[in-house]
Amino acid sequence: MANVVLRNVRKTYPGGFEAIKGVDFEVGDGQFCVLVGPSGCGKSTLLRMVAGLETITSGEIDIGGRVVNDVEPADRDIAMVFQNYALYPHMSVYNNMAYGLRNRGMAKPEIEARVQEAARILEIGAMLDRKPRQLSGGQRQRVAMGRAIVRQPKVFLFDEPLSNLDAKLRVAMRVEIRKLQRRLSTTAIYVTHDQLEAMTLADILVVMNAGQVEQIGSPLDVYAKPATTFVASFIGAPPMNLIPLDAEGVRARFGGAVTEAGVLGVRPEDLAISSEPPAPGGLTLDLAVEAIERVGPETFVYGTRSPGGDLAAISSKPGELPPDEIIIRIPGQEAPAIGERISVVALRHNLHLFSADGRRRIA
Ligand code: ATP
Repeated sequence: MANVVLRNVRKTYPGGFEAIKGVDFEVGDGQFCVLVGPSGCGKSTLLRMVAGLETITSGEIDIGGRVVNDVEPADRDIAMVFQNYALYPHMSVYNNMAYGLRNRGMAKPEIEARVQEAARILEIGAMLDRKPRQLSGGQRQRVAMGRAIVRQPKVFLFDEPLSNLDAKLRVAMRVEIRKLQRRLSTTAIYVTHDQLEAMTLADILVVMNAGQVEQIGSPLDVYAKPATTFVASFIGAPPMNLIPLDAEGVRARFGGAVTEAGVLGVRPEDLAISSEPPAPGGLTLDLAVEAIERVGPETFVYGTRSPGGDLAAISSKPGELPPDEIIIRIPGQEAPAIGERISVVALRHNLHLFSADGRRRIA
């Protein structure tokens, strides 16, 4: 078992593109860390640097108290599970799992014991003689996991391991991976662009954007107190509503201490349809309903903000029209009609305030 520490890690690819612009974080022993962010933000690059598949331009990566910058991948005591599983097509499931151990010169009975134990945990014991092409996607995924488990590494590295599976299987395997990691209590770093996967798997969430870390924290902390508007819109679905405010609008809503323009944030689930005024300090918006999505247990209502209500107090600078679409998320299936005008309210403690450039959380 081991912790993983990244210190001011940077990566410039040949040609000069800076993919990682100075990243610091620590994954504690036995923790499950998820790197999440949009396509191209540098998640895979970072994971591949931990694995040793990519050189580190500057900074340090430390696994279990040892700086591994110049250590070969095979000597880092890590095991990686890839998106495409990278199984050997001509080998049986058993041999796919045993291959790496044989290469290391492990004794046959020990290999047998480890493969059988992994197969038992993953419930693929009946498939050990099959070739990968005779397996379903989910079963191949298990074999790829099995190959990582038998190595008994200090750290598991996962690069979008579920993205080739259908939606139902993804959810099932997500739960399996979490159970497995808890049981083995092996430190893990997991890359995904799926915020739901990130929220449900992570002990520690690292939200990345354009080669930098936007926020690090427990999933629920990141959800409750996003550090930037990027995090606010990336974590949570549908995304947080963001409304630009001028300095006066900020002062009116958040009190006299704040004297700058800002961005007001409110999550779709924190808005409720109500004709009553909100409690003091709360927010009211008047919306014209434009679209409805019923997904079963809940309904998403898309509306456009109309003038009036509290809008005078939250208008943006002249000539700088705020994005006026607002999404609300309500339980059940009852919803207003398209074209209807509704009032929605939010409580004061559910309002977020960011700096005007979105880079800083103010309240
Ligand atoms: P995705 O979710 O799409 O896999 P990612 O967050 O994992 O994205 P990376 O694959 O780490 O992103 O890529 C980060 C950035 O580095 C991208 O802009 C990519 O184009 C660039 N990049 C990746 N590999 C190279 C390379 N070998 N040479 C130059 N640029 C690269």
